[in-house]
Amino acid sequence: MKNKLILALLFCCSFHNLSGQDIQSPSPWFTVNEVLPRVWVIDDHKAVNIYLVIGTDSALLIDTGMGAADLFTQVRKLTAKPLIVVNTHGHGDHAGADYQFSKIYIHAADSSDARACNLPESRANAAKNMLRSAVPQPADTYKKKEIHPKFVAVKDGYIFDLGDRHIQVIETPGHTPGSICLLDKGKKLLFSGDNDNTAVWLFLPDCTPLSVYYKTLQKLSGRLSEFDLLLPGHGIPKKNDFILDQVECVKSILNHTCVSEPYETFAGKAQLCKYGQASVAYNPDNL
Ligand SMILES: [Zn+2]
Repeated sequence: MKNKLILALLFCCSFHNLSGQDIQSPSPWFTVNEVLPRVWVIDDHKAVNIYLVIGTDSALLIDTGMGAADLFTQVRKLTAKPLIVVNTHGHGDHAGADYQFSKIYIHAADSSDARACNLPESRANAAKNMLRSAVPQPADTYKKKEIHPKFVAVKDGYIFDLGDRHIQVIETPGHTPGSICLLDKGKKLLFSGDNDNTAVWLFLPDCTPLSVYYKTLQKLSGRLSEFDLLLPGHGIPKKNDFILDQVECVKSILNHTCVSEPYETFAGKAQLCKYGQASVAYNPDNL
């Protein structure tokens, strides 16, 4: 019942687009919504969700998106608190604007990918594939000097102390070796990067074997009582039991009972397995 109420509030609130603050810009690049008290979703041009969690002492920016527009200024419109920035993993649609911030927390296994995706040619490639070469209006363009941020490694159990909120790192290898989820225990929220999207990509060259991702899902399914909602990197929030469908989905691939179908994207070909609400795109040669 409590879950249903929270979900209803989320979907209700998601219709209140608050990004019209900048009336100078006819079509702002970012769409921002406070989906829960002091939890903002910054929608990076329909490509990816960036989250901003505001505590009494500081704010945590979870992922930096594609890097095409001025995220730094957008964040500063929402909070003046000291800012901590973390990447859920090193892909270009989640770490693409790291160059706008001086320090980035990330798992050590993904920091070289995050560094690489901030090179201008990598950002241009990502924009071509995921933004269909859309470019921001002049008002949304990043105009400051690009920064080479310092990457600071985080491990399982690390806590980001925001004052009244404490956000814990959970290592979730699979989609990438250094993927992490971020748990707000007090509010029972799990910011899940690309670990719990409706369709999770496990076929990319840098993905772990599927059996490693299965262990990650089993670990999270053992902690369902710690979070009610998943806030994924792509798509809308989900109830925690979505992970149980993911477990069954991956189990059926590993025990060869899934009847999969071909799946093709700009990033390559894969097989897609579905179970309940969950889908996993995988490489049959990397189980
Ligand atoms: Zn990713």
